[in-house]
Amino acid sequence: MVLKAPRGTKDILPEEAIYFQFLEDTARSVFGRWGYEELRTPIFESTELFCRGVGEETDIVSKEMYTFEDRKGRSLTLRPEGTAPVVRAMIEHNLLKQQGVRRKVFYTGAMFRYERPQAGRQRQFSQGGVEFFGCDSPLADAELIAMLSAYLQALGFENTQVKINTIGNETSRQAYNAKLRQCLADVSESLCADCRRRAETNPMRTLDCKEKDCQAVIADFPPLSDFLDDESREHYQSTLRVLKNLDVSFVEDPMLVRGFDYYTHTVFEICLEGLGAQDAVLGGGRFDGLVELLGGPSTPALGAAFGLERLIMAMKAVGIAPPDSDSKSRTYVQALDESCIERAMEVAHALRQSGVPVRFDLAKKSFKAGLKAAIKNECAWMVVIGEEELDSGQVLVKNLDGARQVRVSLDRLISASTFHDLFEETST
Ligand code: AMP
Repeated sequence: MVLKAPRGTKDILPEEAIYFQFLEDTARSVFGRWGYEELRTPIFESTELFCRGVGEETDIVSKEMYTFEDRKGRSLTLRPEGTAPVVRAMIEHNLLKQQGVRRKVFYTGAMFRYERPQAGRQRQFSQGGVEFFGCDSPLADAELIAMLSAYLQALGFENTQVKINTIGNETSRQAYNAKLRQCLADVSESLCADCRRRAETNPMRTLDCKEKDCQAVIADFPPLSDFLDDESREHYQSTLRVLKNLDVSFVEDPMLVRGFDYYTHTVFEICLEGLGAQDAVLGGGRFDGLVELLGGPSTPALGAAFGLERLIMAMKAVGIAPPDSDSKSRTYVQALDESCIERAMEVAHALRQSGVPVRFDLAKKSFKAGLKAAIKNECAWMVVIGEEELDSGQVLVKNLDGARQVRVSLDRLISASTFHDLFEETST
């Protein structure tokens, strides 16, 4: 029997891994400029963290978690999202204790959800995320969204669309939940079993229901914006104003609520072209109550997460390739005779130690076959060592772009800061 990767998971092969590296490196560089530091949490957590943090009635907790008991009977869950673990870690390590503390952290890593696999939806996938603790100003909401737009631009995307909405503060949501309860009671027969339950336990979660019949009746309900109090309205309007001043383009989407219980005030998503049904690559919002809910000091907070696989699909759809940073110095070392292989290996070793990326396959080849392999490996340079070179103590260096070549001593080769210098020396 041939063993295969489990349904909904994927091996990330080398051709694909370079995309992940590019997304992670760019995240580190862009988020670093905004003052974010990396935080890594375990892949599994106690199940209770997600039940309390994400919410029992969310799809994630009620249907999609990989939960198991360990050998001592403790209930553990493979993390389905990154925010609750980050908050748990911030509290556990007392990072939010001091008054007025502001901390910004980012993460990347594997997440697990038992969903029906399809294009852009897997059971193990990779998310990057950012979380900003300790600031209740709408300036923080705008700064976060502007930074995420800058991240997508740094990756090479031009047409990013931020969808934004507010779900208001606790008071506004209580008023809206009361209204939703009434509306849901009137249409109870048309609802699926889940929504009939949610109508009692957590009415706002009916807005995420994917059943067509539920969506049809819910579309006629009054929008949350009718129930916002002054504080919620002011927070939202200020966020939009600052976004405009920062030249971030957005559209308001009054139906956007996002499927987590922890959000307050601003919620947003960013969609990209070329992804079909799963076009949201990034989602986030403010979660002012979550730190306290998980046992920490009352701390305003906000954050977002993006799916790396979906970003890669979008990169491919619009033709963005990860940059090949080695391509200008990549060098193919070739031994022409059996007697030169060890010497060629020493040359390859010395070049590698001095920082040059080298391709050398530990065997002899004809000059022609070596040249072909160098081109296939996308090398910019070729260093050739044959009997003649061994005798003269020199090597042949070939520039594969301009197809020029020079003979230099090994010492000179290793000490050259770029191989271009070798050509300039010989032409003067
Ligand atoms: P969420 O944590 O649900 O807000 O999702 C944030 C982002 O993670 C989404 O916009 C997607 O890019 C990505 N994502 C969520 N679920 C999956 C999944 N099952 N497979 C692949 N990517 C996902």
